[in-house]
Amino acid sequence: MNLDNGCSASGARKSLSVDDARRIILDALSPVSGWERVAIRSALGRILSEDVIAPCNVPAHDNSAMDGYAVRAEDLSADTESTLQVVGTAFAGRGFSGIVGKGQAVRIMTGGVMPMGADTIVVQEVARPEGDQVIVPGGVRRGQNVRRAGEDLAAGAVALPRGKRMGPAELGLVASLGIAEVSVMRRLRVAFFSTGDELASIGRPLAPGEVYDSNRYTLHGALTRLGCDLLDMGVIPDRPEALEAAFREAASASDVVLTTGGVSVGEADFIRELMGRLGEVSFWKIDIKPGRPMAFGRIGNTWMFGLPGNPVAVMVTYYQFVMDALLKIAGLDPLPERPLVPVACTTPIRKLSGRREYLRGRIFAENGVWKVRSASAQGSGILRSMSEANCFIVLDEGRGDVTPGDIVDVQLFDGLI
Ligand code: AMP
Ligand code: MG
Repeated sequence: MNLDNGCSASGARKSLSVDDARRIILDALSPVSGWERVAIRSALGRILSEDVIAPCNVPAHDNSAMDGYAVRAEDLSADTESTLQVVGTAFAGRGFSGIVGKGQAVRIMTGGVMPMGADTIVVQEVARPEGDQVIVPGGVRRGQNVRRAGEDLAAGAVALPRGKRMGPAELGLVASLGIAEVSVMRRLRVAFFSTGDELASIGRPLAPGEVYDSNRYTLHGALTRLGCDLLDMGVIPDRPEALEAAFREAASASDVVLTTGGVSVGEADFIRELMGRLGEVSFWKIDIKPGRPMAFGRIGNTWMFGLPGNPVAVMVTYYQFVMDALLKIAGLDPLPERPLVPVACTTPIRKLSGRREYLRGRIFAENGVWKVRSASAQGSGILRSMSEANCFIVLDEGRGDVTPGDIVDVQLFDGLI
């Protein structure tokens, strides 16, 4: 495994671009093994460990896509009205048991099974009932408004591929096949702890110089959303013996260890020395703001991500590097697209070239046009502006200052499904 890409763990720290860091991380990882069977509802958010094969056609029978009349196209004239005898009714779930003969039609509702003999649906809006007859205009196309058996899914086809994450649509799709349980990858076990002598756990007053540990709560939220099993190991002081014990315990109990703090220049030295003994971990300087320092590697069979300490830097590095890494380890395949949406920015932004910046932004509509403004407080410790934001404004390495009206890329926080 080559995690260094020129950044030696011991030597000078050359910097890495965001894209290179992502690529090195994702290339190094492979999915865990282990799966379980779960009922459909419990599969929400889980990743399929095998293909779901359609056991039957969906829809199971040819049926009507509209309310109207089931007819035989050959009885209709191309350009003049035709009069047909209505001989019965087909409802969804209660079909017409006879055969539609020459000159006949059956009243049919959406979802009603196509009666034998009929091949076309005339929608009720254009048909004119008269007593027990119906008058149909010319120009009706053969086969129109008929949903074919298996048109959604054919029996034997892959309905959902292995590696797919189950969302609401997938739950419904599996149910539409009459399947009650699916095989999903086991949940990832993620251990995490905060490092820092200045950190206080909530529940006691702060001593001078202390701050409350917020990173573990942010990570608790992010990891819970992702569907991981969590091992929250608390706050570990900046002492080599305490850190070594924490890393050993975390690595033995989990697939992935996440830490925050202690990876910046100066602080990283004894963690680096410790990692040299415990595992294979690289310390990176990434061309990103916020979140420059980061460590990545493995301790035995456990992957390790050492994130920076500042609360917003934790979130930026988690979302740009760790989340997709966890999804890959959890078996998601392919990884989701992470679209960048170009919109006009209404605020000026100072930007140094040579690094990628993730600013907290708020996308909003002005006279029906979507725009984005950057939060005024961009300090990497300021979580409030993270909470007020609904997107990252992503400014690439080559980009300089932004003036109002310039187009910038945004990465939205929320997806719809
Ligand atoms: P470090 O990366 O350890 O140098 O930490 C950088 C900054 O983030 C310092 O101001 C820390 O106090 C702060 N910090 C580190 N860890 C946490 C945490 N768990 N919760 C809140 N702030 C933190
Ligand atoms: Mg620290």
